[in-house]
Amino acid sequence: MKETINVIGAGPAGLTAAIVLRRHGFPVRVYEMSPHVGHRLSGDFQGFENWSSERDVTAVLKETGIEMNFLYVPYYGGTLFAPEMKPAEISSDRPIFYLVRRGPMPGTLDTGLKEQALSMGVEILFNHRLDPGSSTGKTVVGTGPKRADAAIVGITFNTDGKDTVGVIFDNDIAPDGYAYVMVHEGRGTMAAVLYRDFRRGNECFGKMLDFFRDKMDIDVKDEKRFGGYGNIFLRDTQIQGDSLYVGEAAGFQDALWGFGMRYAVMSGRLAAESLINGSNYDMLWKRELKPMIETSLVNRYLYAGFGHTGYRHLTRQFLKGRPCDYLRKHYEPSFLKRFLLPPAKRHHDRQGMMHRGKFHGLFNKNQR
Ligand SMILES: Cc1cc2nc3c(=O)[nH]c(=O)nc-3n(C[C@H](O)[C@H](O)[C@H](O)COP(=O)(O)OP(=O)(O)OC[C@H]3O[C@@H](n4cnc5c(N)ncnc54)[C@H](O)[C@@H]3O)c2cc1C
Repeated sequence: MKETINVIGAGPAGLTAAIVLRRHGFPVRVYEMSPHVGHRLSGDFQGFENWSSERDVTAVLKETGIEMNFLYVPYYGGTLFAPEMKPAEISSDRPIFYLVRRGPMPGTLDTGLKEQALSMGVEILFNHRLDPGSSTGKTVVGTGPKRADAAIVGITFNTDGKDTVGVIFDNDIAPDGYAYVMVHEGRGTMAAVLYRDFRRGNECFGKMLDFFRDKMDIDVKDEKRFGGYGNIFLRDTQIQGDSLYVGEAAGFQDALWGFGMRYAVMSGRLAAESLINGSNYDMLWKRELKPMIETSLVNRYLYAGFGHTGYRHLTRQFLKGRPCDYLRKHYEPSFLKRFLLPPAKRHHDRQGMMHRGKFHGLFNKNQR
């Protein structure tokens, strides 16, 4: 009989680990402190990015052993707004991202993963908080973000408008970040992602709403506010005693724009593989994830450093076609990226010290 593995946190990272482990015959018990999966999310749309690797992200999910039993819709383009430029219509020959829905309701990524796990015999204990330090035996820790390196303010809404995607690069609306709208079959999500000046969250939210209404003619009905945050850090080991850290609990995030789902799933799979094969988890994530996270830190440094000039440059590059290829090139390690990593890390740490503590209290609803 194989040893029971404890998984703390039923997010995408923890549930991926649980699914892979169960498929290899391990008894798995998941502790989730909330009454549902996806409790901190509000039915908002998120994008599974499809640019940082040559393999389509749906192929990566399938190889991991994840069934696509949730809504996922490929998006091949959208409208990009950069300061002092005309709206840019971006299109791509491969999906730029797959829209998925997040939260506790049917059809979401979270519910899909939960259903797969349960159907395979994973035990999930809801309303059970477990402190990673007090877990005994082999444990996967997927407890999500602890601090805010990026803050997100947004709404979900109903609309009569057609399916669309819009993105704004503008420091007045989303300092060092971006704002987005995604509409799919009468439902929409709109949010500003801030990498500094978190106190300006509500002001930025208002500006974003006006902008999308004005420039994209988005009608917004029955809106519901949400907020959230993302956490990125690099540490030398993700092994503490018998515990392996995955997803945002391990700081695994895309530093450039916060597309953390891919890292959550990949790290969940790697942690499971190391428990299955006895391989060293630190070695696995350092080979598979660290190079991408490091280049994303440098990308963030450059993106924030060049500001509006950089946003216009990026937009012009996207307009040339093949935006996924352009972005992928920028996720590949290079001499320049290695050279710029130390100042990029210092910049990240400085930003963290300046802004992290100022996140709480920004939102009225769905805070955590
Ligand atoms: C508003 C918003 C928009 C986003 N948009 C995108 C996007 O478009 N694309 C993208 O790729 N990523 C996006 N992200 C990031 C992405 O959602 C996260 O990176 C991803 O969900 C991280 O997965 P995780 O499993 O590590 O953590 P989480 O999804 O946070 O799951 C952690 C789970 O652990 C539980 N937990 C915590 N502590 C304990 C404990 N002690 N005991 C038991 N349970 C515990 C929590 O309740 C939670 O269910 C967004 C994030 C937010 C907030």
